[in-house]
Amino acid sequence: MIPKSSVLLIEDEENIRSFIATTLKNQNYKITTASCGTEGLHLCASLCPDVVLLDLGLPDMDGIDVIKKLREWSCVPIIVISARTHEQEKAKALDLGADDYITKPFGTVELLARIRTSLRHSNQLNAGNNAGLLAYHHGDLVVNYEKHLVTLKGEMIHLTQIEFKLLSLLAKNSGKVLTYSYIMEKIWGPYVDNNNQILRVNMANIRRKIEKNPAAPEHVFTEIGIGYRMAEGDQSL
Ligand code: CA
Repeated sequence: MIPKSSVLLIEDEENIRSFIATTLKNQNYKITTASCGTEGLHLCASLCPDVVLLDLGLPDMDGIDVIKKLREWSCVPIIVISARTHEQEKAKALDLGADDYITKPFGTVELLARIRTSLRHSNQLNAGNNAGLLAYHHGDLVVNYEKHLVTLKGEMIHLTQIEFKLLSLLAKNSGKVLTYSYIMEKIWGPYVDNNNQILRVNMANIRRKIEKNPAAPEHVFTEIGIGYRMAEGDQSL
């Protein structure tokens, strides 16, 4: 078998480190581990991994500072490993350049899905493909970027311009969490105030139009305190 991508894991808790290492080895990933931030940064520079898994609570430095340092020279996808209660920390990590996060305790399926999504996004970016995407498909929902059309079960859904922009942004990044502040800036520009009300209103309208039951969405999920994640779909080129 050809080895899959290489993963660098920076995590000080030994049981989590060995759980992740075993899981990824079984899936044929090449895995290297570091138990503190300094070691992680050194290994990242020498190995140039395809993905970094980063615990935010490290003994020698704050994981947030590891992200800042890495982002000075590397655009490797970073998936943050964090505790359930630290929403603000997760949002900050994402806004500083982390690509995604996974909440402890997590299972194998979720871990592998996050890694696959990050690899897919970084490959798309490297290939400069993102701009050439034509449409997103997930279940009955199609978001056609080129024609500015959204259909559900083949029926056209009428969206306002802002709603369409918002849904397209999420669809192009499907599988990945986008923070409130990232979305606000992308849709309303850098000078928008950081009150999310306008975003919530638009999202509620979108959900009313595309979800069977807006309270139990199938397409766009809320990541409480952080942002939104659209279900991973197929992109056509
Ligand atoms: Ca830790």
